[in-house]
Amino acid sequence: MKTLTLFEPQFVEKFACVGSACPEHCCGGWNIQLDKKSANRYLQAKRIDIRALATEHISVTKKSVANWAQIKLDASGQCGFLDEKKLCKIHAGLGASALSHTCSTYPRVSIQKRRDEFNTLTLSCPEAARLLLTHPDGMQVQEKQLLRQLFNSAPEYQDAEKLLNLMCSLLMAKCGVQVEQGLYAIALLCLKLDKVSLDNADDVAQLENTFLALSDSLEKGEVVAHMHAIEPHYLLHYALLNNMQHFIQLRPGSRGFATFSRYLQLLNLDALQDQDDASKSQLMAENSLLWQQKVLPLLQDSPWLIGNYFQYRIYHDRFPSLTSREPLSALYLLTSEWLMIKNLLVAQVKSTGELSQDDVVNIIYSFHSLTKHNKQASDNFYMHIDAFKMNDNISLLHLLK
Ligand code: SF4
Repeated sequence: MKTLTLFEPQFVEKFACVGSACPEHCCGGWNIQLDKKSANRYLQAKRIDIRALATEHISVTKKSVANWAQIKLDASGQCGFLDEKKLCKIHAGLGASALSHTCSTYPRVSIQKRRDEFNTLTLSCPEAARLLLTHPDGMQVQEKQLLRQLFNSAPEYQDAEKLLNLMCSLLMAKCGVQVEQGLYAIALLCLKLDKVSLDNADDVAQLENTFLALSDSLEKGEVVAHMHAIEPHYLLHYALLNNMQHFIQLRPGSRGFATFSRYLQLLNLDALQDQDDASKSQLMAENSLLWQQKVLPLLQDSPWLIGNYFQYRIYHDRFPSLTSREPLSALYLLTSEWLMIKNLLVAQVKSTGELSQDDVVNIIYSFHSLTKHNKQASDNFYMHIDAFKMNDNISLLHLLK
């Protein structure tokens, strides 16, 4: 037998779908794909009512075995299999075992490496986002040993990747709600990483020393002094946000669109479209100041609202994941996404004077729903962000002020 290690944060263990009480049901506003076995099971069901429903609501596309058919949405954008109480007629008629892979697993995700498995949830589910963000221990990760006949077929999770992931997680944990300081420390760690080889023990020791020095600086509050030298580039803030807004505005009717648009309207970037660069920069500078003066004090009482989000991103993305992008490039994307979330939080406080846990949950789940529904959506979104890089990834430093 082989021994694998399973990792699972507390919010994943606690998750249970809230069904018809869900503020934004997952069976709507999205293309819901069916695998071949499930599509045929519904189209050839013995029960006439299920067969009739399937014939009416399934469109067979035969793109692949996993993507064999698609569920047609009704005029209100909901899955045609939902009843008036938003309960699934397939589940009611044929049982849970008849649900397609997509429907039976969402929002659960298992990230597999040869000897490790990481259970997680996609944050496009509002209940998943609520459990993560509103519980102090939401990202407390449990570890279990699993006995299996075979290891997973996925590549090995390299020690160097594990070490970097752990360092990033610890740096973000050290910075509390001063997220920019944590991101800055990770940027310095990534710059050091560019100069060392993770195959060389002396180099790894040097990287560890850099990590310890950064961790110490965060603890003593010295990082903020180092950051004074960074020149903010508020026009870049505006250009990035505007471009992300443009990406999202092309998706009316998508899940999360109405919720996210409510907060985007408060941010009101459109009012600046015809203004000069100085006015655009001024709004972004004001927002940056409001973040420090008004929003951070509100978050101090429940730092896990933001802290758990970053711990989730590092855990879920296996950040900085050496196999997909350069670490600095991955950090640029994360920093850009944070810029959008942060400005929406500022806009909420600016216009109402308040920030509830629901606001944070709503902004984060709807943002994930619109930009990370699947790999294609997140790749497209990242292309939009990459288009606004200045010279290189290190321009992310200009986003931290
Ligand atoms: S979005 Fe989440 S809570 Fe809502 S219906 Fe889907 S799985 Fe359940």
